[in-house]
Amino acid sequence: MKYIILIGDGMSDDPIKELGGRTPLQAAKTPNMDMLAQKGSIGLVKNVPDEYPPGSDVAILSVLGYDPAKYYTGRSPLEAASIGVKLAPDDLAVRCNLVTLGQKDGKVYMDDFSADHITTDEAKEIIRDVDKELGGNGFRFYPGVSYRHLMVWSGGPDNLETTPPHDITGKEIKDYLPKGKGSDKFIQMMNASQMFLKGHPVNIKRQENGHKPANSIWLWGQGRAPKLPTLKQRFGIEGSIISAVDLLKGLGIYAGLKVVNVPGATGYLDTNYRGKAEYALKEMETRDFVCVHVEAPDEAGHNGDLKGKIKAIEDFDKEVVGRALDGLSQFKDYRMLVLPDHPTPIAKKTHTRDPVPFVMYPCNDSHGKAFTEAEAKASGLFVEQGYKLIERLLKK
Ligand SMILES: [Zn+2]
Repeated sequence: MKYIILIGDGMSDDPIKELGGRTPLQAAKTPNMDMLAQKGSIGLVKNVPDEYPPGSDVAILSVLGYDPAKYYTGRSPLEAASIGVKLAPDDLAVRCNLVTLGQKDGKVYMDDFSADHITTDEAKEIIRDVDKELGGNGFRFYPGVSYRHLMVWSGGPDNLETTPPHDITGKEIKDYLPKGKGSDKFIQMMNASQMFLKGHPVNIKRQENGHKPANSIWLWGQGRAPKLPTLKQRFGIEGSIISAVDLLKGLGIYAGLKVVNVPGATGYLDTNYRGKAEYALKEMETRDFVCVHVEAPDEAGHNGDLKGKIKAIEDFDKEVVGRALDGLSQFKDYRMLVLPDHPTPIAKKTHTRDPVPFVMYPCNDSHGKAFTEAEAKASGLFVEQGYKLIERLLKK
């Protein structure tokens, strides 16, 4: 038996006036997901419990069958694994974004949480210098992908409160600075980074080319290494994970999955959808389980880009779901699960904890007319503890 999970990050949404009260999932052309809903089983699943931050880390921990109450220790430890950084038990892993801060009327605000999608090569140069300037005394900085990087604080404290920068676009940062024991150290680091990043050669060049500068680091998403039993230990399956996002690769490593890198997978609207499906089918030849994650709809949601979100959903349906369906027919028995991890509503430009629609195929529980939020609700099938959904998928 072969199992596959296809995640369209942030795909679900709320009704939008511009679409005549429809959601992007309702407005997008999705013949493959609609067919799965008509012939398979559709329902709602809640991947983010109310007491947790509505992030992909919590949501996809649930999708892979891990109860967040038992296993969630923050976003950054997962990303650390994906860039090969081993954490000691008392290490605190911290997400280090490169951001663009703006100034207006003497107020400092979050202009761009991604420093205008700085390239990985430019960012590597900057993070190397950040480590030189601010590293030492138990602090180390490690380069990641684009604007997503890592700081490790050996012996760092618990219970720091921090804010994801993508939640405060356009807002004054003074209201969202780190709080709690050790927060002064974080604030000092962020302020110090602004001093030398102002004149950094990479930023000078970026501004000459019309791009926003990475003029500060922003620290958040901290935690210690999680202790996850692997999917092999839990369900006896060998699997692989395909994603451009470090968080997913790290989660895959802790879950005992093989991380497969697809050329041209960017984690953005221009990602290699087709390549992801092709590599997944290749993995299926030797593995029992594959999880494919596509970040694009979420990025469009964060940017309030309605057209981009509809296009990302249509590309996901055609190039990932459609191709996977075609290719899976070579296997005698398989079961597929397609879902968003959490909603990223265009109007809110950030994640919510609302339940999301899922479809499982082949399956005979509850059919729907199309793969939409409304049809999933109308089905009456609701999986309140999202981490239990995988048991339905893997049921013999
Ligand atoms: Zn997500």
